[in-house]
Amino acid sequence: MRRHAMTIGGARVAGSATFGVVNPATGEVHAEAPDCDEQQLDDAFTAAQRAYVSWRKDERARRRALHAAADLLTGAIGKLAPVLTAEQGKPLKDAANEIGGSAWWLRHAAGLPIPREVIRDDATSHVEVVRRPMGVVAAITPWNFPLMLACWKLGPALLAGNTVVLKPSPYTPLTTLALGELLSEALPPGVLNVVSGRDPLGAWMTAHPVPRKISFTGSVATGKLVAEAAARDLKRVTLELGGNDPAIVLDDADPHVVAPKLFQHAFENNGQLCSAIKRVYVPEHLHDDLVAVLAKLADEAMVGNGLQPGVHFGPLNNKPQLDRITSLVTEALDRGARAAAGGSPGDGPGYFHRPTILIDAADDTRVVVEEQFGPVLPVLRYRTLDEALHRANDSHFGLDGSVWGNDEDRAAAVAAELECGTTWVNTHFSVHPDQPFGGHKWSGVGVENGRLGLEAFTEMQVRSRAKPLS
Ligand code: NAD
Repeated sequence: MRRHAMTIGGARVAGSATFGVVNPATGEVHAEAPDCDEQQLDDAFTAAQRAYVSWRKDERARRRALHAAADLLTGAIGKLAPVLTAEQGKPLKDAANEIGGSAWWLRHAAGLPIPREVIRDDATSHVEVVRRPMGVVAAITPWNFPLMLACWKLGPALLAGNTVVLKPSPYTPLTTLALGELLSEALPPGVLNVVSGRDPLGAWMTAHPVPRKISFTGSVATGKLVAEAAARDLKRVTLELGGNDPAIVLDDADPHVVAPKLFQHAFENNGQLCSAIKRVYVPEHLHDDLVAVLAKLADEAMVGNGLQPGVHFGPLNNKPQLDRITSLVTEALDRGARAAAGGSPGDGPGYFHRPTILIDAADDTRVVVEEQFGPVLPVLRYRTLDEALHRANDSHFGLDGSVWGNDEDRAAAVAAELECGTTWVNTHFSVHPDQPFGGHKWSGVGVENGRLGLEAFTEMQVRSRAKPLS
């Protein structure tokens, strides 16, 4: 079994202990990852603090280093994709796409302008507003897109001049540990430190005195703990949290055209995507046709080990998540919902679940109210558009939403009524490194990506000079 190492101050560091990483397609431990202790975490923050002194000074060097990092990552797709599939479960092709996308994000960050603005230049004063780096950033990521979500943070954080201590989820530490080792060829020691460990490690990071900023992606429950810990030291936070994205199908939509797209955006990454479609609202008269197409696609999907060619969906990432999905579906079926497709877990020992289309679920079933984060899609009938909008917005979540119909202007007007960070018309989860991304309500605080995402890794500074008296 290969031993994976942390990257601290440019060195490969073994944990004082290790923990097992399970391959979700087999249910077996297939690797040991370092379990970072508090002294090692302290070493990582100290290394990041030291590296900050010179890293923040040379913007050109940072841009060069980020380009080099993107090149290294692109060159490693073939090597890293099977590692990502083995720890996360996603099919090999999707793993390769995630790694390629991560490199794209780093490359894009390398070219972002760092905003500065002269707001006054007159006879008496010159006043400029600039953005300064914050210092050391603690970056914490979840298990669904471990590499992509790490790079959403690393690119802008490093470009702005910060240094980083990055921690992946204990379910998916391996590709992120490999990223740390790989990028140490492009980044000076201490600029990026990668640590891994069981769950106390995240809380140790947010309580540590060194980081000035916590950039967190994960669940609402953990996000609230992170916000509490940050408040004690007034650390800045960006929280990218859960979603329960609604999709509203309008009465002029063709269900045969719309259903395959809804299916794609609901079941991408096996539904384990913050921005997956998690509820579909459809007018009564289109319901049966839409459900028929969705159910056919679900029945035809090939579920299996992501290393096998032709597999559409791998296993769920971990046993608690499989148990959660199973219990959400069971509760809905017990309360009168019906499964138009799927409805039960697959055969073990891996954490498989058939893609499931649920109909006639009540609005107060957990699968409608909560974020399922798995391969289950409730399709809900509506009578009036106002009612559909009310039900779509009647949620603690507010990440994204989409509206589907032939009349794009009408669909756009409906989409504008959704209470969420991003709305789409006739598509869903179409993201780009230029495009800010963030949630309303419980779905998050702050944004990632684009100019706003870069600014979130900086502090504003006003530089004001009096003009000499003459
Ligand atoms: P999680 O909250 O359980 O864990 C996320 C990370 O936080 C992990 O690295 C975990 O080890 C760490 N952690 C655990 N306890 C902590 C603590 N007390 N303090 C600090 N860190 C701690 O989430 P998960 O199950 O890994 O991920 C799934 C969730 O992430 C879903 O809710 C999903 O919607 C959300 N997510 C959101 C986005 C977004 O951009 N909005 C993207 C992807 C995933």
